Amino acid sequence: MTYPKPCPHGEFPTDCERCQQAAEIARLTAERDLWRKIANQLAAEIVRLMAEVEGLRKDAERYRWMRQHGYLALANGDLLDEDELMHVGPRLDAAIDAARGET
Ligand SMILES: [Zn+2]
Repeated sequence: MTYPKPCPHGEFPTDCERCQQAAEIARLTAERDLWRKIANQLAAEIVRLMAEVEGLRKDAERYRWMRQHGYLALANGDLLDEDELMHVGPRLDAAIDAARGET
């Protein structure tokens, strides 16, 4: 019958508290490294999404400005009174939606 070799601490590895603690530390270290990697990936994704949101925000602000100012009507040389301007936004939205096939 063969017996397992004693650990560096002179005990059977399964009975050695220091060896078991070292194994637990190694397991927790690997787990920590995995979570750290996941956290870094999520942080990078957040940064990417924030940049995307900023780009979309700028586009939205441009569009809202254009809609608010009745840009298309003004570009055609028409002058709009305030009442007409209020109707330009919804008409512009509808025209864009229709052109994009979303109506
Ligand atoms: Zn040991």
